[in-house]
Amino acid sequence: MPPSPTSLVDRFGRRVNYVRFSVTDRCDFRCLYCMSEQMTFLSRARVLTLEELATLGRAFVDLGAHKIRITGGEPLVRQNVLWLFRKLGQLREHGLAELVLTTNGSQLERYAADLQAAGVARLNISLDSLNPDRFRRITRVGELDTVLRGIRAAQTAGFQRLKLNAVILKGRNHDEVTDLARFAIDNGLDISYIEEMPLGVIGDHDRAEAYYSSDAIRADLAQTFTLIPSTENTGGPSRYYRIPGSATHIGFISPHSHNFCGDCNRVRVSAEGRLLLCLGHEHSVDLRQVLRAHPGHHERLKQAIIAAMAIKPRGHEFQLGGQSVILRHMSHTGG
Ligand code: SAM
Ligand code: SF4
Repeated sequence: MPPSPTSLVDRFGRRVNYVRFSVTDRCDFRCLYCMSEQMTFLSRARVLTLEELATLGRAFVDLGAHKIRITGGEPLVRQNVLWLFRKLGQLREHGLAELVLTTNGSQLERYAADLQAAGVARLNISLDSLNPDRFRRITRVGELDTVLRGIRAAQTAGFQRLKLNAVILKGRNHDEVTDLARFAIDNGLDISYIEEMPLGVIGDHDRAEAYYSSDAIRADLAQTFTLIPSTENTGGPSRYYRIPGSATHIGFISPHSHNFCGDCNRVRVSAEGRLLLCLGHEHSVDLRQVLRAHPGHHERLKQAIIAAMAIKPRGHEFQLGGQSVILRHMSHTGG
């Protein structure tokens, strides 16, 4: 389909049709690859209101976005967040094809049915370990059982093809990659393994030492499973594999070992309303300023988003070792 005149296209000809909103930088977990133990969170005034997020959603959809992912921090700890899901769900009448959510699963028992009713199409749920003690160590405060109950609640609510996200760190959970795949297969889930990205100062470990590559994970899995490369084009950075006799997709997100920027179709809005053009750069436009200086002025907002495409970088330059070049934590950016 030829792009409409209002489409978002960057200077490398990449069409941007997917936006992620971090709706809060706060979280009920403190995953050691994502946050430091003592985090200072944004004051309420600096975070976009739910109304501002709904306005942004409408602007992006008007500009041709067909997918919105809600993320964070933990989106489901934001007060009254269901209101936003319902509002964004209504954008399906205006061209939004997919409203999706990334969550740590801790609140799903409570919210799964309402999210389904609001029009959320799919959920990604983070799960790095199936061992309760280890799960607690990685999340610092999380309860594995609560998340497992959340996964079951989402299935009961009717969500299809739930996807697990597992960040794999050497010496922490790399020996669980096969167990996690087995769990996904047995429960009819998809799973993506993620290489850790150098976002924010975390204090816990040296990211270079904890690096465990997607190739190493794939080699581990190949000892138990036959992995067939999937031809499905997901329009995203994951490379997918199938296992014969199972519906499970196994994905790899490999920012270090397989740069995924060439086909990038996405942008992010941080919790405080910065439109981030690339996960690995600080290039951004302050949409909160536009929203608050010109309330109700949709054209102005849309023009700011269109203009931002001119500064979308070609790609990230994550490097192993050394300092985090990006000071934003993933929770702030919206993974
Ligand atoms: N709280 C929700 C969750 O954990 O799913 C949503 C936000 S979280 C920032 C989104 C995803 O980013 C999670 O799957 C998490 O494991 C991943 N993540 C966080 N920090 C990361 C990092 N430094 N490198 C790679 N992935 C990271
Ligand atoms: Fe919270 Fe998700 Fe970050 Fe873990 S990865 S601390 S659950 S935002």
